[in-house]
Amino acid sequence: MAELIDLRSDTVTRPSEEMRRAMATADVGDDVFGEDPTVRRLEEEMAAAVGTEAALLVPSGVMGNQVALHLHGRPGTEVVCEARSHVVDWEMGAMAALSGLSPRPVAAADGLLDPEAVAAVIQPWGGFRPPSSLLVIENTHNMAGGRVYPRPRIDALLEVARRRDLPVHLDGARLFNAAVALGLPAAQLAAGFDSVMVSLSKGLGAPMGSLVCGPADFVAGARRVRKMFGGGLHQSGVIAAAGLVALRGGLEHLAIDHANARRLAEGLAELPGLAVDLDAVETNIVLADLVTTAEGGAPVFVEGLRREGVLAVPVDARRLRFVTHRDVSAGDVDTALGRIAGAFRERSR
Ligand SMILES: *Cc1c(COP(=O)(O)O)cnc(C)c1O
Repeated sequence: MAELIDLRSDTVTRPSEEMRRAMATADVGDDVFGEDPTVRRLEEEMAAAVGTEAALLVPSGVMGNQVALHLHGRPGTEVVCEARSHVVDWEMGAMAALSGLSPRPVAAADGLLDPEAVAAVIQPWGGFRPPSSLLVIENTHNMAGGRVYPRPRIDALLEVARRRDLPVHLDGARLFNAAVALGLPAAQLAAGFDSVMVSLSKGLGAPMGSLVCGPADFVAGARRVRKMFGGGLHQSGVIAAAGLVALRGGLEHLAIDHANARRLAEGLAELPGLAVDLDAVETNIVLADLVTTAEGGAPVFVEGLRREGVLAVPVDARRLRFVTHRDVSAGDVDTALGRIAGAFRERSR
C-alpha cells in the first residue's frame, strides 16, 4: 500500500536531517550539574522567545505543566481550567496524584474561557469551599480544535485572576501556532502569565522536549520539582540540539501547516458524511464530526481510514481529529482527502 498519511498529531514528525546532524555533534555535559552548554543555550533562547527571565527543559509537556501546577498549587486546592483542557483530560490525573490538586472545570463551547464564568468559580481562602490556587489557560486549545485566544480575552482573564490574587499558568504546548495565527510574537501572548509551558515536540517538530518558562526564582523551583518528578536528565544537550534547530527554523513552517489544515478542512466539509465548522479552524488542528454514527462511530471509521492509508484520532463517538505538521505537504492533504472519500465509499457499500 502507498505510504500512510499520519494526521493523528503534530507529534509524529521525524527529526529532520539538520536536527539529526545537530544531535550527533552537540556539545554536551551533565545537565543535573547544570553543565550542558547546549541545554543552557536552548533555555536562554526559549526564555527570550517567550519573554521570560528563565526557562527549564523538561522531557514532556505533561511534566512541564505538572511542575508548574505543583509549584503554584497547594494540596486541597483547586485549579480553575477549561473543561476539555489538557491538564484535565490527558494528564492521567497527575494534578491529583502528584500535587493533591483538583480541577475546577469551566466549560466553554469554543474552548476559550469566559472571564465572567471564571470569576464565578474562584474561591477565596477561609471559606467553606476548596480555595482556588491557580488558573490555567490553554493556547492554542487542543480539544477545541486548535482555537486561539485573542489577546484582549487573555487580558480580561488575567485581570480577573489578578483581582483575586490567583496565579495564572499558560499551557502553551502550541503557543507558537497561536502566535503565527495572530501574526504576533509569542512573547506578546505570554506576557502577564506567572508561568508558561511551551513544547518543542508539537508544531515545531523536534523529537522531544518542552520548557517551563517564568521568573528566575520560579524556574529555580521548577528545577527542584523536575528532579523530584524524575525529569532530571544528564547529557540532554542531545535533545536540546534538535530543539534549537526546531526553535530557530521551525516557525515559518507553522504558517504552511495552518494553510494545509484549512485546505484539509475545506475538503472535508465537502464530504457529505462529515460536518466541519470551518470558522473554528484557526491553526493546525481540524475537528470533523460524522453526520451519522449508525454504521459505527468514530473509532470504527478510523479503522476504515487506516485501511485507506490515512491516520486520524477518534475524539469521541462522533468526532475525528486531524492535525497537520511538518511532515505533510499540500499534496499529501489532497491525497488524504481522496482516501477519506474512499473510506466513505467503502463504508456505504
Ligand atoms: C500535547 C499537549 C501537552 C503535553 O505534551 P506532551 O509532550 O505530549 O506531554 C500539554 N498541553 C497541550 C495543550 C498539549 O496539546
